[in-house]
Parts: sequence; C-alpha cells; structure tokens
Amino acid sequence: MFEKLLTPLQVGNITLRNRVLMGSMHTGLEEDPEGSRKLAAFYEARAKGGVGLIVTGGFSPNTAGRVFEEGADLVSEDQLDFHRPITEAVHRHGGRILLQILHTGRYSYQEGCVAPSPITAPINFYRPKELDHEEILQTINDYARCAKLAQMAGYDGVEVMGSEGYLINEFIVKKTNHRTDEWGGSYENRIRLPISIVEKVREATGSDFLIVYRLSCLDLVEEGSSFEEVVELGQRIEEAGASLINTGIGWHEARIPTIAMMVPRAAFAWVTGKLKPHLKIPLITSNRINDPYVAEGLLRDGMADMVSMARPFLADEDFVLKAEEGRPEEINTCIACNQACLDHIFSMQTASCLVNPRAGRETELEFEPASTQKTFAVVGAGPAGMTAALVLAQRGHRVTLFDSKKELGGQLNLAVKIPGKSEFHETLRYYRVMLAKHGVTLRLGKTFDSSNLENGGFDEVILATGVKPRGLNLEGSKHPKVLSYLDVLEHEKPVGEKVAIIGAGGIGIDVAHYLTTKSSIGDDVSGYMNQYQILEPREALEVGQPLKRKITVFQRSSDKIGKRLGKTTGWAHLQSLRSHEVKLYNGAEYLKIDDKGLHVKVSLEKGEAPQDQLFEVDQIIIAAGQEPFEDLSSRFNGKGMPIHVIGGARETRGLDAKVAIREGAELAARL
Ligand code: FAD
Ligand code: SF4
Repeated sequence: MFEKLLTPLQVGNITLRNRVLMGSMHTGLEEDPEGSRKLAAFYEARAKGGVGLIVTGGFSPNTAGRVFEEGADLVSEDQLDFHRPITEAVHRHGGRILLQILHTGRYSYQEGCVAPSPITAPINFYRPKELDHEEILQTINDYARCAKLAQMAGYDGVEVMGSEGYLINEFIVKKTNHRTDEWGGSYENRIRLPISIVEKVREATGSDFLIVYRLSCLDLVEEGSSFEEVVELGQRIEEAGASLINTGIGWHEARIPTIAMMVPRAAFAWVTGKLKPHLKIPLITSNRINDPYVAEGLLRDGMADMVSMARPFLADEDFVLKAEEGRPEEINTCIACNQACLDHIFSMQTASCLVNPRAGRETELEFEPASTQKTFAVVGAGPAGMTAALVLAQRGHRVTLFDSKKELGGQLNLAVKIPGKSEFHETLRYYRVMLAKHGVTLRLGKTFDSSNLENGGFDEVILATGVKPRGLNLEGSKHPKVLSYLDVLEHEKPVGEKVAIIGAGGIGIDVAHYLTTKSSIGDDVSGYMNQYQILEPREALEVGQPLKRKITVFQRSSDKIGKRLGKTTGWAHLQSLRSHEVKLYNGAEYLKIDDKGLHVKVSLEKGEAPQDQLFEVDQIIIAAGQEPFEDLSSRFNGKGMPIHVIGGARETRGLDAKVAIREGAELAARL
C-alpha cells in the first residue's frame, strides 16, 4: 500500500529502513534534569514504531547559539552520558538518529546573542553582537566539535540547521548580513559560512557519518534568496560533503503561515520537487505532511527521496507501523493545531500533543493493563468522554459510551465547520475506528439519566457531558436578532449581512471566520454550476462567493484581542479576519440590544475615549463563554458508585480539546 514510503534508502554505506524522517522538534526535555531518560523513552517509542531516521531537537555548538540562556548545547565530553541512552534506545529497534546542531543566531533569547550584523530580529528584544572574523572561525570549529561529540555519543549523523532564519540563514540573506568583509557582500561571501561548516563537519567525522543540511528553500522574508541562489547553495553544500538535503520553509519571523492548520497538506513540497533535478544527493521534503497517502504520493510523483514529518510523530508514535501493517485508518493524525507542541515550547512548557497527551510524557502517563476488569459508563462522547472510553477499553475494562447526539465528537463536530479546522475530521475518524476496535459499546442518541445509572450494572461512571453557551445578562438579550454560537454553527440559523459578535475568544473568532466564508446560498452551488456547465468556471466561482458580510467582533476586556489565542497561530487567524475587513474592538461595554441593533460604549479609534455607539446589525451573536451543560454529578452522587467528572463538565475555564483529551486520558490511566 505504501511501497515507496517503506522502501529502504541507501545513503553511502548507511541503509535507512524506509523513507520516513522524523523532523527535529525541540521538546523542552533537552533542558530537563531527567531529560536523558525521558528523551530516550520518547525516541525509543518512535524507533519501535518504525521511523527510519530521527532528528533530535536542536543542540547548540556553543554558548552564544543556545535557544535561551539555559538552552541545550553539546560542547564537551561530560555531556555524552546524557546522549548515550538516547542513541542506544533508538538503535535497539533498528532506527537511526541524528543530532541537530542549531545555532540560533539573533533568535537566541539571551543577552550576548550573536549574528553577522547587529540587527535585532522582529521576534526578539535582544540586539545581537556582530561576530568578528576570529569568532566566525571559532563558530565553524564549534560545529565540527559538536558533530564529533555527537559521533562519540553514538549518533548516526547530524543535521546542520541552515534555515528558518537562524545564524546560518542570517549570513546567507542580505537583509541580515550587512558585512563588508569576506563573510558579507557577494552571495559567494554570504554562503561561505554554511559551506565551511559542512566541510569541517565532514573532516571531523569521516565518510560514514550522515550529514543532513537543512536548506532554506523559501525564506519568505524580504530580500530572501532567489531560487537560483538556493540551487547554487544546494550544489555547493553537496560538494562540501553533505549526505542529504532537507527542505526548510520560512523564517520564524515570516508572516506567512507554513505549518498551521490552515496551510494545505504538502503545500510546499513543490519547491523540493523543483530543486531535485539540480542535485545528486537525496532530498527530503517537509511541511504539513501528516498522512501516509500524501507522503507516498509525493515519493511516487518524484517530488523527493524522503519525507519529513515531525508533529505527526507526536500525535502517533506508531504511524509507520500502522502504515506498514495496512492499518492507516488507525493513525492518530496530527491536526496541525500547534496547541500542545509549539505553543507549549513558546510558553516554556514541555511539548506534548493535543490528540496524544502521552507524547513527551512516556515515562509518566502509562496505559497499563487493568489489574481488575470493571464495567464503566462514560456519559458524553466529546473529546473527554471518547478518550476516557478508549483508554479504559485499551486497558481491558468494559465500557459503554453514551451521547444524546446521534454522532460521536461533541463540540468537535462544530470545530470541523470552521475554515481551516477540517483536520478535526481525522480526529473523529480516529476515535470512530479505535472505539470500535477496542469493543466500546456505543449508545448514541441516548440521553443518560438515573434509570441508566440504576439499571446499567456499572461499577463506575464518568461524566463528560461538556458545555453549553453562557447567556448574556443584558437588556434585549432575548431579542429575535440575538443568536448563540450554537444557533449559527449547529442549527445553521440564517445570518444577515451585518453582524456583531460578542466575545473575541477562540469561539467568537471562529464564528467570525465561519461567517466570512459561509455563502448564504450554499457552498456547493458553484461546483454544481461548473459541473453541469451552466456557468463558466470563473463565473461559477463568483456565484459561490460568500456574502461580503460586515462583521464586528467585540471583547469586554481591554486586553489585546487575540491574547488568548494560540501563541503560534493566533496572529494568522487575526490576519485572515483583517483581510476580510472584520473589525475587532476591545474594552467594550455592552449597553442594550433593540430593534436598531447593538448599543455599545467603545472606542473606535486608538487613544480616543469610549463613546456610546449604535451598531445597526441584522444579528448579534453571543460567544461570551460557556458553562457546564448540566450538573449530573450532584444528582448521581450517593447512588453507591464512584462518579468522576472530566472536561467541560468539570471546569469551563481554560477548556479546550487539549484539556478535555488530557483529562480523559489521565483519569482512564488511573482507574
Ligand atoms: P463536549 O465536546 O461539549 O462534549 C460533551 C458531550 O456530552 C456532547 O456530545 C453532549 O451531547 C453530551 N451529553 C451532554 N449531556 C448528556 C447526557 N445527559 N447524556 C448523554 N450525552 C450527554 N478546542 C481546541 O482545543 N482547539 C480548537 O481549535 C477548537 N475549536 C473549536 C471550535 C468551535 C467552533 C467550538 C465550538 C469549540 C472548539 N474547541 C476547540 C473547543 C473544544 O471542542 C471543546 O473544549 C471540547 O469539545 C470540550 O470537550 P468535552 O468532551 O468536555 O465536551
Ligand atoms: Fe499536531 Fe496539534 Fe499534536 Fe502539535 S498538538 S503534534 S499540531 S495535533
């Protein structure tokens, strides 16, 4: 089924067991005192799951290049004991592992960070110090020393991080390299650093050591390299001794999303395909590849020799094994939300995964077989309930899962309707398949009540009944113009051209997105017009265009709008709304709703005092928070069996699918 993907790849004298590379991800465990043991367990699980080649998170070749002051580096033999358990664990399962050498340059969050020129990055507040000639030569030697140490620790090679706007990339691009010496000016001078690094690393490690060079194929910043320059650099890196070239897309400061959910799958693979005819060594493609069918298709189309996936291995360590054994429908797919991986890293927490809370916690959260088999009722088939039911069943318990709705998924069925969030369909598919596989009895379209409790013969009950929208205490809140987000997303009630949304949290922002793209005449009209050639394709597209709605979103708090959205994706959501001319106001005081519309006291221009305003709108949509759906626990407590409450049913503050899934898994692991 996945012949190409599973074919071994010969690189010099080294055989990789398949074409799957687990891309580098900083997990935060690199800096953990217990990190060696935890990372060994983390990578061992992925090697056991069949990954051909793993790349670790970044380790700096010297102090200045660390991600932050206490960031991880590999600079001396004393540190080898940290790494040996990791390489041994991977080799035990026939895997191969590379250490990524990452010098962060001006992206380093520390005083004393360095760069080719003293230009502060827009995503950092530390001004870098300009490296002098001697320091550049020392940095090259540091890369070589780091690679040699990696070899001594048992790594099969290194990845030299040359993209994403880090030090090497900063030398290559004019925007960040204003030097006039032999390391700046002409392109030849600007690429001297990466070429010298690869040459020195090869010299230090000999011929049977893999060197992957991560080449920035698209910088996505002003004055970035042209394609011709990328080809030239690729060829020179090949000559310098690299074994493989991995594709890098976009600097961290680029304002174009490159890996978020709204980026189509394999959106950037074309650039690897375009580069491939110019190079002899194997090429690895990357970015938003999360599915074995897509990966196989890219290899069949000759876009690359190998496919890199990073986050998909947080979501499912057995991705390759499941593809190999013809069970791809059992893969827990990475939905590109960034919520528990990158967002965690950017807020100094250990990386994990929204759909797989065990990721990065392999030594803590274990799903051991149950010592005594019990019978459970799980009430509510949202993410919390589905996860609890699945983990309990995997551990050998008997489980019945109830939901008043006829379908599994709870609020995820609303999330999938939001533009750019359709990957949640994969999560729903995963649970459907796995709940069936592990024999969970489904009682859908069935509201759980006291009679189920009394007559079901359950030993324990888990309540995961989720949330409902919180109402608004405001004059006119029962006016016919007022809708809840459920009216819009679930019941699809008609919404006019002028809309006010109260609440700029995740759901308010999602409703705004939905309304900017939702056509009042149905999404499929243009396809139909085109298919039957009633209209020319171009005209058909116009017919299917959404109403150009005038949307205004309000937030009561004076915090910056988007503060509570994902750290790494919030900006892209807001950027998209602004491109649809959606207006966003914070510090709003809601006064009343009447036939005319919404009365609010708000400041429309920055710095102006708030004033009473009337927004003449057709609908006012309330997305101002949630409350538990129903307090069943107080009704059921005292009935002689343990009752557990998880997800939104327990607490709505800070609730999202990540919290719901994690709570479901943690509880089910304990029972
Ligand atoms: P729910 O998902 O609310 O599920 C509870 C289930 O219990 C429901 O199916 C309900 O029918 C059932 N139920 C209630 N009472 C009974 C009863 N007595 N008997 C039987 N069944 C009962 N989160 C993210 O992390 N990332 C996102 O990108 C994201 N996007 C979202 C977009 C939208 C539009 C919405 C609405 C939510 C989004 N969320 C997102 C939030 C996330 O979906 C919720 O936080 C999560 O679903 C809560 O999970 P839960 O299992 O606690 O409850
Ligand atoms: Fe993928 Fe989201 Fe998990 Fe990150 S948290 S690995 S993006 S599913």
